[in-house]
Amino acid sequence: MAKKMTTSAGAPIPDNQNSITAGARGPLLMQDYQLIEKLAHQNRERIPERAVHAKGWGAHGTLKITGDISKYTKAKALQPGAETPMLARFSTVAGEMGAADAERDVRGFALKFYTEDGNWDLVGNNTPVFFVRDPVKFPDFIHTQKRHPKTNMRSPTAMWDFWSLSPESLHQVTILMSDRGLPIDPMHINGYGSHTFSLWNDAGERYWVKFHFKTQQGHKHYTNAEAEEVVGQTRESYQEALFGAIEDGNYPKWTVQVQIMPEADAEKTPYNPFDLTKVWPHGDYPCIDIGVMELNRNPDNYFAEIENAAFSPSNVVPGISYSPDKMLQARIFSYADAHRHRLGTHYENIPVNQPKCPVHHYHRDGQMNTFGGIKTGNPDAYYEPNSFDGPVEDASAQEPPLRIDGDADRYNHRDGNDDYGQPRALFELFDDGQRQRLYSNIAAAMGGVPDEIVERQCKHFDKVHADYGAGVRAAVQANKDRANAVPVTDETSQTAAE
Ligand code: NDP
Repeated sequence: MAKKMTTSAGAPIPDNQNSITAGARGPLLMQDYQLIEKLAHQNRERIPERAVHAKGWGAHGTLKITGDISKYTKAKALQPGAETPMLARFSTVAGEMGAADAERDVRGFALKFYTEDGNWDLVGNNTPVFFVRDPVKFPDFIHTQKRHPKTNMRSPTAMWDFWSLSPESLHQVTILMSDRGLPIDPMHINGYGSHTFSLWNDAGERYWVKFHFKTQQGHKHYTNAEAEEVVGQTRESYQEALFGAIEDGNYPKWTVQVQIMPEADAEKTPYNPFDLTKVWPHGDYPCIDIGVMELNRNPDNYFAEIENAAFSPSNVVPGISYSPDKMLQARIFSYADAHRHRLGTHYENIPVNQPKCPVHHYHRDGQMNTFGGIKTGNPDAYYEPNSFDGPVEDASAQEPPLRIDGDADRYNHRDGNDDYGQPRALFELFDDGQRQRLYSNIAAAMGGVPDEIVERQCKHFDKVHADYGAGVRAAVQANKDRANAVPVTDETSQTAAE
């Protein structure tokens, strides 16, 4: 027998087809609470979408550790043989919830590992670097990627104006405009923790670390023209590909690697190892294989498990910690804050965000407190310290001191910083075909941008490599020539034929 349908308060519903009206042709009655409840729920089905990374696709999986980096870290999830359940959410950055998947953009690569010691989140991208290195520039940067306040359209002028005035963006702009800027789906991309984090061991030693997730599916990308065709057919190509692959048992995998830097090296490297616009060259700090990440279970409910998923770089566990990376420090605040705003104060209590280990804290009350008031196990233990057997601190989770010195001031982050060398190293990896596509992707993205902004940006490309600036200028000019060419109409082609 079918289950009885009830109100959300549990009372049986006698009729879900007809509202209560005064006569068959008469008006509605206020007392039709079921109708009001249905309409009110519908009005509240949307929660604020993420200001960035709104459009996403995700799945559950496992992290298996096969390598041995136990001398660097006490993190249980990184010990040889460890298997940790995890969740991944991929995303585009600029597009809203309804945006098409196959658009040129950076891809978010957010991971939540449900470890024995609490949740560890790595909230990275499919690129190892980012557009800015100082978080004071981040809101301005994102404004240039979003809609113009007057036209309500994306503004290439704003993007290139900002980038051309912020040369630290060159590295990421070059990756974005290269083949890897338009992947075919979430399985054919690498993931990078991007920031420098740290590992620490029982001996109290700290090492700097970069995390890499190398796709085992290989890299696959669309050209702009191919992507336009895909978007013309479906806006959900990533959702279809990821969901379909996992339903078919084709579980995507990534080789997990780390680069490790001894703590004291950070003072000696020619580049700032905490600068998010820079990589650590593999020749200096080789990638070490430590395991495999596999995605093998689709969510049962997209909203509950992917839209509600709250990733934050603030979530670290004993053996893993932060670094002086300015962007990381800012994200430690802003990601958790975004979730408080979007999901509510106790967002970590939503099932997909709940740790799979015991949770005991003294936070009380507030939105979404569905855990019975307090999480201490004893109603008398609602403050700390107490004499009522409430949970107590664990000194073994104390990380070694973060050694920082220097005078507090506003240091010009461009002083002594080479913004051109690493983009050059990347440009030199590209073959001729990759370079030509880079130029034409940039020229396409510069459509309608004032000449002086284009030229200011090209001067930066010149400093990376003479071919880069020249190639972009030629591609921009070719687009202008095409646009200015006399259009071929029936009449002109008729004249030509005569
Ligand atoms: P390596 O030759 O050792 O490494 C080159 C790296 O570039 C590889 O990781 C490769 O990724 C990646 N790569 C290849 N094509 C592209 C592309 N179109 N877009 C983005 N990445 C690409 O050199 P270095 O370590 O000395 O680095 C040289 C340059 O490579 C850097 O300036 C940086 O731009 C780029 N890079 C470096 C990374 C690092 O952590 N050192 C990471 C990613 C890029 P894969 O192995 O997946 O093919």
